[in-house]
Amino acid sequence: ARGTGLLELHGLGKSYGGVRAVHGIDLAVAAGEVHGLIGPNGAGKTTLVNMVTGVTPPTAGTGTVLGVTLGGRTRAHRVARAGVARTFQQIKLFGRLSALENVLVGAYRITDDTLLRRLVFLPSARRKERGARAVASAQLVRVGLGEKAATAAGDLSYGDQRRLEIARALAAHPSLLVLDEPAAGMNHVEAERLSELIRSLAADGVAVLIIEHNVRMMLATCDRITVLNFGEVIAAGTPTEVARDPKVLEAYLGSE
Ligand code: ATP
Repeated sequence: ARGTGLLELHGLGKSYGGVRAVHGIDLAVAAGEVHGLIGPNGAGKTTLVNMVTGVTPPTAGTGTVLGVTLGGRTRAHRVARAGVARTFQQIKLFGRLSALENVLVGAYRITDDTLLRRLVFLPSARRKERGARAVASAQLVRVGLGEKAATAAGDLSYGDQRRLEIARALAAHPSLLVLDEPAAGMNHVEAERLSELIRSLAADGVAVLIIEHNVRMMLATCDRITVLNFGEVIAAGTPTEVARDPKVLEAYLGSE
């Protein structure tokens, strides 16, 4: 990657037909940084994250993530291989599989059943599987679900399911972890535990990009925050700077 940023966006934009969903986004995230994206509904947060993860190609500007150039032929799997893992606004777990098995799916990044068959039949793959299980267990412990490895994902509490999603994303050993509304539906205590988990990941050098509506949690968790409104950056800085910015207060008060 060029420069110090593991994620760097310059004037990035996305239009659908004539409609500009996001426009002129400059943003940089360094290793070990927790970077928040906040803004009212429809501000363009999801569109931005979809561009960063290679899901949606930008229609303007340039961007690189872990050395991969966004746009052109870059697709989501290429960005994922470079070291970007993501959780989704809608929880995407296999409800009847155990917590451990859900993490294993993340560790293997299983894409076809040929690979699955090899894992079952080859002795070397068996050894690999034991290794993968150990890694998956460690990720569960990391997010505070060590005791619940055998519990079906569908039987976990909402907060635990959100943390399981993070464990699954971590199993791929990402350099950049993208979290889309990880605290949605969490109570105050759960959100605080999540905040601690995110800070500990950052302390280990993982960069984290978070979309979150829980502004109080964002102020407590992020190193830097970028505020979007109507598809544009209206403020960026430390939590203290952003919280004092009149444009931010206006955007939030004006939309409620
Ligand atoms: P929320 O907090 O509600 O998830 P958001 O900040 O993530 O909102 P986006 O979902 O990125 O906002 O939407 C930004 C704008 O782009 C909205 O006006 C939306 O209608 C528009 N938009 C997003 N995706 C498309 C699409 N596929 N086609 C047309 N317009 C789109």
